[in-house]
Amino acid sequence: MSRPTYAEIDLAALRHNCRTLRDRVGPGVRILGVVKADGYGHGAVEAGRAMAGAGIDMLGVAIVEEGVALRVHGIRTPILVMGLTPDDEAAAAIEYGLTPTVDGPATAEPLERRAAAKRVTLAVHLKIDTGMNRLGVRAEEAADAARAVAACPHLTVAGAYTHLACADSPDDAVSAEQLARFAQALDRLRAAGIRPEVVHAANSSALLRAPESHFDMVRAGLALYGVHPCEAVRDVPLRPVMSLVTHVVATKRVRAGEGVSYGHQWRAGRDALVGVLPIGYADGYPRALSNRAQVRVGGRLAPVVGAVCMDMVLVDLTDVPEAAPGLEVTLIEADPASPLSAAALAGTAGAIPYEILTGIGKRVPRVYRG
Ligand SMILES: *Cc1c(COP(=O)(O)O)cnc(C)c1O
Repeated sequence: MSRPTYAEIDLAALRHNCRTLRDRVGPGVRILGVVKADGYGHGAVEAGRAMAGAGIDMLGVAIVEEGVALRVHGIRTPILVMGLTPDDEAAAAIEYGLTPTVDGPATAEPLERRAAAKRVTLAVHLKIDTGMNRLGVRAEEAADAARAVAACPHLTVAGAYTHLACADSPDDAVSAEQLARFAQALDRLRAAGIRPEVVHAANSSALLRAPESHFDMVRAGLALYGVHPCEAVRDVPLRPVMSLVTHVVATKRVRAGEGVSYGHQWRAGRDALVGVLPIGYADGYPRALSNRAQVRVGGRLAPVVGAVCMDMVLVDLTDVPEAAPGLEVTLIEADPASPLSAAALAGTAGAIPYEILTGIGKRVPRVYRG
């Protein structure tokens, strides 16, 4: 069975983005490819496999379950779990060879206990909070936390990292402060005799804007999927990986003055031909695009009219001569300059591109090319 609505995932573009980021960071810096949230909606297993094939050094997930899914599908690349590992997932993290994040003795303890029971040594990364004020031990307390983790006989502090809060802001002064705090915390770790092999801080924006944030490894998500993480890096030759395609399932003649869809938010200003698309907000096409977005059909742009429904979207096809059921329609285009790029749609919807990509629902099959 093939559905008229699908997300096309261009793995050649993904590999191109891997190479582009590799060129940016140089050969001495490792790249962690972030595949949390089902690879930002692209399919974690396929994206992870393509990244590993393109020489990405480590993969990053948010939760243990995501890491387990990659292992079950045969991916052997090191995997960092960037969220904290709850007590009852510690055993799975060890069994599947994942690298957990800890923020001190309390999060290390369950891992130490399970690792001791299995008689293995587990590599962990210490998360240091330098200003995001989310996960991680506060920078001032990082050396104490690292010492406590390092004192666990079955754990090694293989990595230390922080996360930047404002790396994508137009005039970012915060990252410099965070990196200074991070450097101090690393000095104190070293003074305490703890030398993590892999130090990392940069997300996509910092990777592309702030070489001083590269350390031993960068953590790239959005840029690998070909979406520019901020205006400042527009010139980087990234290729969007996802496009979103559907087909007209029905057309409806509407008389001038008639309203369409819930709430009659749009009324035909003339006798019009409305096309019905089999995709809705339940598939991740945001309701905020009601009456605001456009789609590409027959080489032209056609406006979305009326409220986006759960399972359907209506478009005005009056000016599309070939309008008929079966006609292909593109909702997201893999072109950074298009008004139908994920970034542009996010702007129209009052969202961010991360939300658009990760929001594409389970009901939408992913079709892989390249
Ligand atoms: C999601 C995430 C990233 C990737 O961020 P991008 O902006 O997509 O590059 C990096 N680090 C951490 C800790 C994350 O949670």
